Amino acid sequence: MSAFSELYSEIAQCTDCGLARTRTRVVPGEGPEDADILFVGEAPGWHEDQQGRPFVGPAGHFLEELLHSIGLRRDQVYIANVIKCRPPTNRDPLPSELMACRKWLDQQIELIQPRMIVTLGRYSLAQFSPGLTMGKAHGTARKKDGTILFAMYHPAAALHQQSLRKTIQEDMLKIPLLLTQAEQVEEVKEEDKPQQLSMF
Ligand code: SF4
Repeated sequence: MSAFSELYSEIAQCTDCGLARTRTRVVPGEGPEDADILFVGEAPGWHEDQQGRPFVGPAGHFLEELLHSIGLRRDQVYIANVIKCRPPTNRDPLPSELMACRKWLDQQIELIQPRMIVTLGRYSLAQFSPGLTMGKAHGTARKKDGTILFAMYHPAAALHQQSLRKTIQEDMLKIPLLLTQAEQVEEVKEEDKPQQLSMF
């Protein structure tokens, strides 16, 4: 069994927080094991919980549209969430749930070793860049331990707030340039302040 298969199997059996009691299926994530880009959303919704796959509802369709705008298909990137089981009624994840689940995403990152991690939404942003607000951080990149961190609004935000659609589309278009000019993205140390982000 490959390291990935073993990890999926462990995640599927996880009961480390209360969401294990209400989920239909665990949603570990999917994509190539050597993907250059890892997209990290918040948590599974109803559709994802039913199918055991990330981003398969309306927000997922918009994400696929966004990927298409930069010449990518969803099977060319890795897609995951910070929380692997659906919070009831799609409520916000609790701090204890985020803490309990973080180990799985960390292990996925360790195996994939992506060149870029795209955080989708504030919960994902907070996991990688605590202290940054989405309003200021979206569309900006920083590098941490050699990996580019790029912040975007969650695609679902465009479904609830049409005015964000163009912003999300414009931010997505920055990704190819960031990958080709990765060496220009500034490495930010933990002690650096949020305003020292490299702006793209
Ligand atoms: S949300 Fe994460 S920590 Fe909680 S049961 Fe599911 S996999 Fe385990």
